[in-house]
Amino acid sequence: MSVETQKETLGFQTEVKQLLHLMIHSLYSNKEIFLRELISNASDAVDKLRFEALSKPELLEGGAELKIRVSFDKDANTVTLEDNGIGMSRDDVVTHLGTIAKSGTADFMKNLSGDQKKDSHLIGQFGVGFYSAFIVADQVDVFSRRAGLAASEGVHWSSKGEGEFEVATVDKADRGTRIVLHLKSGENEFADGWRLRNIIKKYSDHIALPIELPKEVAAVEGEDKPAPEWETVNRASALWTRPRTEVKDEEYQEFYKHIAHDFENPLSWSHNKVEGKLEYSSLLYVPARAPFDLYQREAPKGLKLYVQRVFVMDQAESFLPLYLRFIKGVVDSNDLSLNVSREILQKDPIIDSMKSALTKRVLDMLEKLAKNEPEQYKGFWKNFGQVMKEGPAEDFANKEKIAGLLRFASTLAEDGEQVVSLAEYLARAKEGQDKIYFLTGETYAQVKNSPHLEVFRKKGIEVLLLTDRIDEWLMSYLNEFDGKSFVDVARGDLDLGNLDSEEDKKAAEEVAKTKEGLVERIKTALGDAVSEVRVSHRLTDSPAILAIGEQDLGLQMRQILEASGQKVPDSKPIFEFNPGHPLIEKLDAEPDEDRFGDLSHILLDQAALAAGDSLKDPAAYVRRLNKLLVELSV
Ligand code: ADP
Ligand code: MG
Repeated sequence: MSVETQKETLGFQTEVKQLLHLMIHSLYSNKEIFLRELISNASDAVDKLRFEALSKPELLEGGAELKIRVSFDKDANTVTLEDNGIGMSRDDVVTHLGTIAKSGTADFMKNLSGDQKKDSHLIGQFGVGFYSAFIVADQVDVFSRRAGLAASEGVHWSSKGEGEFEVATVDKADRGTRIVLHLKSGENEFADGWRLRNIIKKYSDHIALPIELPKEVAAVEGEDKPAPEWETVNRASALWTRPRTEVKDEEYQEFYKHIAHDFENPLSWSHNKVEGKLEYSSLLYVPARAPFDLYQREAPKGLKLYVQRVFVMDQAESFLPLYLRFIKGVVDSNDLSLNVSREILQKDPIIDSMKSALTKRVLDMLEKLAKNEPEQYKGFWKNFGQVMKEGPAEDFANKEKIAGLLRFASTLAEDGEQVVSLAEYLARAKEGQDKIYFLTGETYAQVKNSPHLEVFRKKGIEVLLLTDRIDEWLMSYLNEFDGKSFVDVARGDLDLGNLDSEEDKKAAEEVAKTKEGLVERIKTALGDAVSEVRVSHRLTDSPAILAIGEQDLGLQMRQILEASGQKVPDSKPIFEFNPGHPLIEKLDAEPDEDRFGDLSHILLDQAALAAGDSLKDPAAYVRRLNKLLVELSV
């Protein structure tokens, strides 16, 4: 035992304490994953060393044979993992094994409910990592030395996982990290060669470097135990370099967990090798669930980049557009230089063409998923639909393809679930319908009951109901799908095209003519509260409705802009009334101009309320309504 100096005791960050507690209490049914996590870290550490050694070969210190060794001691009830990767300095150890660096961690932890079943799902979004050692160990000792530091600058970290840890400076001859797990008394099953070998085969076969276990040698009586001979127990080749047909689903899934730091299997993956002008392999995954930080700007995104099998960087963001930031995976290029940097990636034309090819791959994979596994795709849409909606604005070239992947609520779908695709919508469109009709609004309840839908209900025409914050913005980028243009049913002068018969149109014109006088009277009464007054063809039950001008901002966009403190151009609605409605007939027959004015204003305000807007002068509305109510009761 070497001398320990500068020993100190430090507390874990609060979030680590919470994570440790959760892990120990909720992952008991799947304890063996601790080994996967520690091997995954060792493999990352070796990747990092290999990369840094490209420019600083002295980091290898003569020992270029990179590997992980797992050993055990039945008598001491310990399992030990050793790697000769990049290692950690004392500062590294304190930060990496004492805190969680991910942004938004504290917020995430607030979501923990205390219900272990629910929380163990949450933990999956988070990734378990190093701290999973404490699922099986009641003490963990880490000995590490960062490559390039002197042997005297090793570090010993030790903790019982209960709120604090100790660090001390020690001598460590070899670079890299050794982790000793002191197994809990009930966990001695893990101090066993067969058990360890099976766990490694199950979870870590895809790890690209050798994982060695001591060979089982029968003890010879009267002789000392010989020094262990080591044997490699995993396949030890980069998974993405193997032919697709030879890789089992389970291997793809375990590889995903390793690179994505996810706990759950992915929904789908796409593994490809490209040869020709550019040469690269890619393995792309769709996760089953959104990470907790999907909407955080600084959240990690991007692919793991390898150049000729050598790991180069994590979170290489230049290979996929932002709206596909949830995709995880690996890209291994034969064309890039090993000392490529993020800055170079942003400018390199090679990257541009890789990016568009990889984007296509992802969209194809999603198309396939939607077609072959509609239930799974529903889940995908719930998790990532909002992000996919950023697509049409960001990725012009693939607009149509992305539009095909969108899912909407509609007047024909139950409960406002977003399940209707545009293809499905068009397939069941009415004879003669050459438009895709939609309505945007704040909530599903509001749009579902909107007076704008009355004529569509009467004619049995489906309308897409869009209530996500991003929807109005999205629709401003979608002009058509499959040659059919989109029509906002709350906008402009609704033209149902062929869906209205010639007779209907003629009849409507006739009615409009007879109401010209009423139109003028209302115009005078409402003054500049509206931009126009006209007879409506879209109402069956409601007396009046507000239409948005063809070029004006919709309600949602206006509210978003206002909330962000921007000046919104003033736009006035178009007031449309239903000539057949009893209230309008009453209005038409009203001789008293004051009462006519009050009633017109009430109808205007009610139409605004029905559209989900707020009133500019609610008190005036109440006053007018009450006045009428009083008159009614005399
Ligand atoms: P993650 O792997 O998702 O980053 P972990 O909790 O598994 O999270 O590990 C935390 C950090 O500790 C790693 O990011 C790495 O910096 C460091 N670390 C863990 N194990 C090793 C190791 N064997 N060698 C070097 N660094 C390590
Ligand atoms: Mg890890």
